[in-house]
Amino acid sequence: MSRFLPALLFPQEASCHLCGRAIGRDGSILCSACAAALRALRIPARDAFVLHQPLGACISAYYHEGEARRLCHLLKFRQDAAAARPLAEGMAEALALSGLAGAFDGVAVVPLHPARLRERGYNQAALLARDVCGHTGLPLWEDALIRARHGASQVTRSREERLASLTGAFEAHGAQAAGKRVLLIDDVLATGATAVSCAQALLDAGAERVCLLTACRP
Ligand SMILES: [Zn+2]
Repeated sequence: MSRFLPALLFPQEASCHLCGRAIGRDGSILCSACAAALRALRIPARDAFVLHQPLGACISAYYHEGEARRLCHLLKFRQDAAAARPLAEGMAEALALSGLAGAFDGVAVVPLHPARLRERGYNQAALLARDVCGHTGLPLWEDALIRARHGASQVTRSREERLASLTGAFEAHGAQAAGKRVLLIDDVLATGATAVSCAQALLDAGAERVCLLTACRP
């Protein structure tokens, strides 16, 4: 018998993905307290932009702290795909508040390393992108970028070392990128090295402009 069958026969109360408190079945994955705590981590519109050349702009929805950081962790390391939803809601709002919502032709995602994709079963950036596209109506170009080669672990590297190792790490699909204004999506903006490398690949393939939208940044 499927181990899922008892849950289907005897549905339990939905519970908040962060604190476990019982919640209604209205599609939300957070209780009202956790949703409010997440909202408090929204980056004010005036601070939501940072610049990493050659990216036109980088917009982030939440500070990478508390509930926002924990949702990213659930999404990346605990196979909790639903954790993308409240993060993507914030991303769509941040995009709307930036005044740039109408400035893109489509959405590309930072590709996941194939080994990570096998391990996780999904690309967290693609899940965020799907939800953002659902909110904004922008088309999703999920295969616009691919990983060109295996990169070593980046955990201990400096930004310069990472940039050097990432040069040429991504390839863009020219037919999708050429002449287009691309909104690139990732979960967390850290040093910006990965996003810069992706943006460069898209620009090399003829993209007119590339901006970044992430769920979180420090
Ligand atoms: Zn909660």
